[in-house]
Amino acid sequence: MMKRLGVLGWPVAHSRSPAMHNAALAALGLDGWHYQRLPVPPELFAETTRALGTAGFFGANVTIPHKEAALALADEPSDTARAIGAANTLTFRPDGTISAENTDAPGLIAAINRAWGKGEVPGDATQGMDIAVSPVRGRSALVLGAGGSARAAVWALIDAGASEVSVWNRTPQRAAELARALGARAVDTPRSADILVNCTSVGLQRSATGEQDSLQQLGLSHDQVGEYSHVVDLVYTDAPTPLLAAARRAGLSTLAGVDILVAQGALSLEVWTLRPAPLEVMRQAALR
Ligand code: NAP
Repeated sequence: MMKRLGVLGWPVAHSRSPAMHNAALAALGLDGWHYQRLPVPPELFAETTRALGTAGFFGANVTIPHKEAALALADEPSDTARAIGAANTLTFRPDGTISAENTDAPGLIAAINRAWGKGEVPGDATQGMDIAVSPVRGRSALVLGAGGSARAAVWALIDAGASEVSVWNRTPQRAAELARALGARAVDTPRSADILVNCTSVGLQRSATGEQDSLQQLGLSHDQVGEYSHVVDLVYTDAPTPLLAAARRAGLSTLAGVDILVAQGALSLEVWTLRPAPLEVMRQAALR
Protein backbone atom coordinates (compact mmCIF):
# COMPACT_ATOMS: atom_id res chain seq x y z
CA MET A 1 0.00 0.00 0.00
CA MET A 2 1.16 3.53 -0.81
CA LYS A 3 2.54 5.42 2.19
CA ARG A 4 1.70 9.06 1.74
CA LEU A 5 3.62 12.02 3.18
CA GLY A 6 3.15 15.73 2.60
CA VAL A 7 3.69 19.31 3.67
CA LEU A 8 0.79 21.25 5.20
CA GLY A 9 0.98 25.00 4.60
CA TRP A 10 -0.91 28.02 3.29
CA PRO A 11 0.42 28.89 0.78
CA VAL A 12 2.68 25.94 0.04
CA ALA A 13 3.10 26.15 -3.75
CA HIS A 14 6.75 27.21 -3.54
CA SER A 15 7.84 24.60 -1.00
CA ARG A 16 10.97 22.69 -1.94
CA SER A 17 10.07 19.86 0.45
CA PRO A 18 8.26 17.62 -2.10
CA ALA A 19 11.27 17.59 -4.47
CA MET A 20 13.67 17.06 -1.57
CA HIS A 21 11.71 14.25 0.09
CA ASN A 22 10.74 12.42 -3.12
CA ALA A 23 14.41 12.39 -4.18
CA ALA A 24 15.33 10.98 -0.77
CA LEU A 25 12.59 8.31 -0.86
CA ALA A 26 13.76 7.23 -4.34
CA ALA A 27 17.39 7.08 -3.19
CA LEU A 28 16.36 4.90 -0.24
CA GLY A 29 14.45 2.56 -2.60
CA LEU A 30 11.16 3.29 -0.79
CA ASP A 31 9.06 2.94 -3.93
CA GLY A 32 5.72 2.77 -2.12
CA TRP A 33 6.18 6.20 -0.51
CA HIS A 34 5.19 9.54 -2.03
CA TYR A 35 5.45 13.12 -0.66
CA GLN A 36 3.09 15.88 -1.85
CA ARG A 37 1.97 19.45 -1.21
CA LEU A 38 -1.04 19.83 1.11
CA PRO A 39 -2.36 23.40 0.72
CA VAL A 40 -4.78 23.85 3.63
CA PRO A 41 -6.17 27.20 4.87
CA PRO A 42 -6.07 27.86 8.63
CA GLU A 43 -9.83 27.43 9.14
CA LEU A 44 -9.66 23.88 7.72
CA PHE A 45 -6.35 22.85 9.28
CA ALA A 46 -7.59 20.88 12.30
CA GLU A 47 -10.32 18.85 10.59
CA THR A 48 -8.24 18.17 7.46
CA THR A 49 -5.19 17.10 9.45
CA ARG A 50 -7.21 14.80 11.72
CA ALA A 51 -8.54 13.04 8.59
CA LEU A 52 -5.14 12.51 6.95
CA GLY A 53 -4.40 9.22 8.74
CA THR A 54 -7.54 7.54 7.40
CA ALA A 55 -6.80 9.03 3.95
CA GLY A 56 -3.58 6.97 3.78
CA PHE A 57 -1.10 9.53 5.11
CA PHE A 58 1.75 8.27 7.28
CA GLY A 59 3.19 11.66 8.17
CA ALA A 60 3.32 15.36 7.31
CA ASN A 61 5.58 18.33 7.65
CA VAL A 62 3.95 21.54 8.79
CA THR A 63 4.95 25.02 7.69
CA ILE A 64 3.67 28.62 7.92
CA PRO A 65 1.10 29.34 9.36
CA HIS A 66 0.18 26.01 10.98
CA LYS A 67 3.04 25.07 13.33
CA GLU A 68 1.32 26.16 16.56
CA ALA A 69 -1.99 24.58 15.48
CA ALA A 70 -0.14 21.34 14.69
CA LEU A 71 1.17 21.19 18.25
CA ALA A 72 -2.29 21.95 19.64
CA LEU A 73 -4.00 19.06 17.84
CA ALA A 74 -1.34 16.42 18.55
CA ASP A 75 -2.16 13.64 21.00
CA GLU A 76 1.52 13.01 21.71
CA PRO A 77 3.72 16.09 21.35
CA SER A 78 7.44 15.61 22.02
CA ASP A 79 9.10 17.52 24.85
CA THR A 80 11.00 19.63 22.30
CA ALA A 81 7.84 20.60 20.39
CA ARG A 82 6.12 21.49 23.66
CA ALA A 83 9.04 23.58 24.88
CA ILE A 84 9.22 25.52 21.59
CA GLY A 85 5.44 25.81 21.29
CA ALA A 86 5.36 24.60 17.68
CA ALA A 87 5.53 21.35 15.69
CA ASN A 88 6.73 20.81 12.12
CA THR A 89 6.52 17.00 11.90
CA LEU A 90 3.37 14.93 12.44
CA THR A 91 3.03 11.14 12.39
CA PHE A 92 -0.40 9.54 11.96
CA ARG A 93 -0.49 6.34 14.00
CA PRO A 94 -2.56 3.25 13.12
CA ASP A 95 -4.67 3.73 16.28
CA GLY A 96 -5.76 7.16 15.01
CA THR A 97 -3.55 9.23 17.33
CA ILE A 98 -1.16 11.91 16.08
CA SER A 99 2.34 12.44 17.42
CA ALA A 100 4.19 15.72 16.89
CA GLU A 101 7.88 16.57 16.75
CA ASN A 102 9.87 19.73 16.11
CA THR A 103 12.88 19.10 13.84
CA ASP A 104 13.55 22.81 13.13
CA ALA A 105 15.53 23.19 16.36
CA PRO A 106 17.65 20.01 16.20
CA GLY A 107 17.97 20.56 12.42
CA LEU A 108 19.63 23.95 12.98
CA ILE A 109 22.10 22.47 15.44
CA ALA A 110 22.77 19.43 13.21
CA ALA A 111 23.51 21.75 10.25
CA ILE A 112 25.83 23.89 12.41
CA ASN A 113 27.58 20.79 13.74
CA ARG A 114 28.09 19.43 10.24
CA ALA A 115 29.40 22.75 8.93
CA TRP A 116 31.61 23.80 11.83
CA GLY A 117 31.84 20.87 14.22
CA LYS A 118 34.17 17.93 14.31
CA GLY A 119 32.19 15.99 11.70
CA GLU A 120 28.86 14.22 11.67
CA VAL A 121 26.59 14.26 14.67
CA PRO A 122 27.13 10.92 16.40
CA GLY A 123 24.30 8.50 17.12
CA ASP A 124 20.71 8.65 15.95
CA ALA A 125 20.10 12.35 15.43
CA THR A 126 16.36 11.94 15.94
CA GLN A 127 16.94 10.78 19.50
CA GLY A 128 18.74 13.93 20.58
CA MET A 129 22.30 14.81 19.75
CA ASP A 130 25.64 14.68 21.44
CA ILE A 131 25.87 18.40 22.00
CA ALA A 132 29.33 18.00 23.57
CA VAL A 133 30.75 18.28 20.03
CA SER A 134 28.60 21.23 19.01
CA PRO A 135 30.51 24.40 18.11
CA VAL A 136 27.58 26.27 19.68
CA ARG A 137 28.62 25.18 23.17
CA GLY A 138 30.22 28.04 25.11
CA ARG A 139 29.73 30.56 22.28
CA SER A 140 27.49 33.62 22.34
CA ALA A 141 24.75 34.02 19.73
CA LEU A 142 22.52 36.79 18.39
CA VAL A 143 19.23 35.82 16.74
CA LEU A 144 17.62 38.35 14.38
CA GLY A 145 13.82 38.03 14.27
CA ALA A 146 11.07 37.00 16.64
CA GLY A 147 8.78 34.85 14.48
CA GLY A 148 8.34 31.10 14.45
CA SER A 149 11.81 30.20 13.18
CA ALA A 150 13.48 32.60 15.66
CA ARG A 151 11.66 30.86 18.50
CA ALA A 152 12.99 27.45 17.43
CA ALA A 153 16.49 28.90 16.90
CA VAL A 154 16.65 30.58 20.32
CA TRP A 155 15.49 27.39 22.03
CA ALA A 156 17.97 25.29 20.02
CA LEU A 157 20.96 27.54 20.75
CA ILE A 158 20.22 27.61 24.49
CA ASP A 159 19.67 23.83 24.51
CA ALA A 160 22.97 23.28 22.65
CA GLY A 161 24.87 25.18 25.36
CA ALA A 162 25.37 28.68 23.95
CA SER A 163 26.92 30.91 26.62
CA GLU A 164 24.40 33.70 25.93
CA VAL A 165 21.59 34.13 23.42
CA SER A 166 20.37 37.62 22.51
CA VAL A 167 17.38 38.47 20.33
CA TRP A 168 16.88 41.54 18.14
CA ASN A 169 13.70 42.20 16.16
CA ARG A 170 12.32 45.06 14.03
CA THR A 171 9.32 45.11 16.40
CA PRO A 172 11.10 45.17 19.80
CA GLN A 173 8.03 44.06 21.77
CA ARG A 174 8.06 40.66 20.04
CA ALA A 175 11.77 40.19 20.83
CA ALA A 176 11.07 41.00 24.48
CA GLU A 177 8.22 38.47 24.65
CA LEU A 178 10.25 35.73 22.96
CA ALA A 179 13.28 36.37 25.16
CA ARG A 180 11.15 36.29 28.32
CA ALA A 181 9.46 33.04 27.31
CA LEU A 182 12.67 31.18 26.51
CA GLY A 183 15.24 32.71 28.86
CA ALA A 184 17.18 34.76 26.30
CA ARG A 185 18.03 38.49 26.35
CA ALA A 186 16.25 41.03 24.15
CA VAL A 187 18.45 43.81 22.72
CA ASP A 188 17.49 47.16 21.17
CA THR A 189 20.27 47.11 18.59
CA PRO A 190 22.19 44.12 17.21
CA ARG A 191 25.21 43.49 19.43
CA SER A 192 28.37 41.56 18.59
CA ALA A 193 28.44 37.81 19.28
CA ASP A 194 30.25 34.72 18.05
CA ILE A 195 27.31 33.39 16.02
CA LEU A 196 24.75 35.49 14.13
CA VAL A 197 21.54 33.75 13.02
CA ASN A 198 19.13 35.55 10.68
CA CYS A 199 15.59 34.32 11.30
CA THR A 200 13.84 37.22 9.55
CA SER A 201 12.58 37.05 5.98
CA VAL A 202 14.96 39.87 4.95
CA GLY A 203 16.90 38.68 1.90
CA LEU A 204 14.05 36.59 0.52
CA GLN A 205 13.14 39.25 -2.01
CA ARG A 206 16.05 40.71 -3.94
CA SER A 207 16.09 44.27 -2.67
CA ALA A 208 15.94 46.93 -5.37
CA THR A 209 18.38 49.03 -3.36
CA GLY A 210 20.77 46.16 -2.76
CA GLU A 211 22.86 44.71 0.00
CA GLN A 212 23.21 47.82 2.13
CA ASP A 213 19.44 48.21 2.30
CA SER A 214 19.00 44.58 3.37
CA LEU A 215 21.65 44.94 6.07
CA GLN A 216 19.99 48.14 7.27
CA GLN A 217 16.67 46.30 7.65
CA LEU A 218 18.55 43.92 9.95
CA GLY A 219 19.92 46.83 11.97
CA LEU A 220 23.45 46.12 10.70
CA SER A 221 26.16 47.99 8.82
CA HIS A 222 28.81 46.33 6.61
CA ASP A 223 31.47 46.89 9.27
CA GLN A 224 29.28 45.36 11.97
CA VAL A 225 28.91 42.10 10.01
CA GLY A 226 32.67 41.59 10.50
CA GLU A 227 32.14 41.55 14.29
CA TYR A 228 30.71 38.01 14.15
CA SER A 229 32.77 34.91 13.43
CA HIS A 230 29.97 32.61 12.19
CA VAL A 231 26.87 33.69 10.25
CA VAL A 232 23.77 31.57 9.60
CA ASP A 233 20.93 32.73 7.31
CA LEU A 234 17.72 30.70 7.44
CA VAL A 235 16.42 32.37 4.28
CA TYR A 236 16.88 30.03 1.34
CA THR A 237 17.50 31.52 -2.07
CA ASP A 238 19.51 30.20 -5.02
CA ALA A 239 22.07 33.01 -4.85
CA PRO A 240 23.71 33.91 -1.50
CA THR A 241 21.53 36.29 0.52
CA PRO A 242 22.88 39.86 1.02
CA LEU A 243 23.85 38.96 4.61
CA LEU A 244 25.78 35.84 3.57
CA ALA A 245 27.42 37.70 0.68
CA ALA A 246 28.66 40.39 3.11
CA ALA A 247 29.77 37.75 5.63
CA ARG A 248 31.72 35.80 3.00
CA ARG A 249 33.48 38.92 1.81
CA ALA A 250 34.48 39.60 5.43
CA GLY A 251 36.00 36.08 5.52
CA LEU A 252 33.49 34.69 8.05
CA SER A 253 32.22 31.11 8.27
CA THR A 254 28.73 30.97 6.76
CA LEU A 255 25.83 28.53 6.69
CA ALA A 256 23.01 28.87 4.14
CA GLY A 257 19.29 28.31 4.60
CA VAL A 258 19.21 25.37 2.21
CA ASP A 259 21.44 23.37 4.57
CA ILE A 260 19.05 24.05 7.45
CA LEU A 261 16.08 23.11 5.27
CA VAL A 262 17.82 19.83 4.42
CA ALA A 263 18.75 19.15 8.04
CA GLN A 264 15.20 19.58 9.40
CA GLY A 265 13.79 17.58 6.46
CA ALA A 266 16.31 14.79 7.04
CA LEU A 267 15.30 14.50 10.69
CA SER A 268 11.60 14.36 9.72
CA LEU A 269 12.32 11.65 7.16
CA GLU A 270 14.21 9.65 9.78
CA VAL A 271 11.24 9.93 12.17
CA TRP A 272 8.97 8.39 9.50
CA THR A 273 11.21 5.84 7.75
CA LEU A 274 13.65 4.99 10.58
CA ARG A 275 16.38 5.08 7.90
CA PRO A 276 19.39 7.45 7.71
CA ALA A 277 18.46 10.28 5.34
CA PRO A 278 20.58 10.77 2.17
CA LEU A 279 21.66 14.35 2.90
CA GLU A 280 23.48 15.12 -0.34
CA VAL A 281 20.61 13.79 -2.49
CA MET A 282 18.22 16.01 -0.53
CA ARG A 283 20.49 19.03 -0.86
CA GLN A 284 20.81 18.68 -4.63
CA ALA A 285 17.03 18.25 -5.00
CA ALA A 286 16.34 21.30 -2.79
CA LEU A 287 18.72 23.44 -4.86
CA ARG A 288 17.27 22.43 -8.23
P1 NAP B 1 7.64 34.80 10.60
O1 NAP B 1 7.15 34.04 11.77
O2 NAP B 1 6.67 35.39 9.64
O3 NAP B 1 8.64 35.96 11.13
C1 NAP B 1 9.17 36.91 10.24
C2 NAP B 1 10.26 37.73 10.94
O4 NAP B 1 10.91 38.56 9.96
C3 NAP B 1 9.73 38.67 12.03
O5 NAP B 1 10.66 38.73 13.08
C4 NAP B 1 9.64 40.00 11.28
O6 NAP B 1 9.76 41.12 12.13
C5 NAP B 1 10.86 39.91 10.41
N1 NAP B 1 10.79 40.78 9.22
C6 NAP B 1 9.98 40.63 8.15
N2 NAP B 1 10.20 41.61 7.26
C7 NAP B 1 11.17 42.41 7.79
C8 NAP B 1 11.83 43.58 7.35
N3 NAP B 1 11.55 44.16 6.16
N4 NAP B 1 12.78 44.13 8.13
C9 NAP B 1 13.10 43.56 9.33
N5 NAP B 1 12.50 42.45 9.81
C10 NAP B 1 11.55 41.87 9.04
O7 NAP B 1 8.58 33.87 9.68
P2 NAP B 1 9.48 32.61 10.10
O8 NAP B 1 8.69 31.37 10.00
O9 NAP B 1 10.19 32.88 11.38
O10 NAP B 1 10.53 32.57 8.88
C11 NAP B 1 11.48 33.61 8.68
C12 NAP B 1 12.34 33.28 7.46
O11 NAP B 1 13.07 32.07 7.68
C13 NAP B 1 11.52 33.06 6.17
O12 NAP B 1 12.21 33.61 5.09
C14 NAP B 1 11.48 31.56 6.04
O13 NAP B 1 11.36 31.14 4.69
C15 NAP B 1 12.83 31.17 6.61
N6 NAP B 1 12.82 29.81 7.17
C16 NAP B 1 13.75 28.92 6.71
C17 NAP B 1 13.80 27.66 7.24
C18 NAP B 1 14.84 26.69 6.74
O14 NAP B 1 14.68 25.50 6.98
N7 NAP B 1 15.87 27.15 6.08
C19 NAP B 1 12.91 27.26 8.23
C20 NAP B 1 11.95 28.19 8.69
C21 NAP B 1 11.93 29.47 8.14
P3 NAP B 1 8.45 41.84 12.80
O15 NAP B 1 8.14 41.04 14.03
O16 NAP B 1 8.91 43.21 13.07
O17 NAP B 1 7.34 41.76 11.77
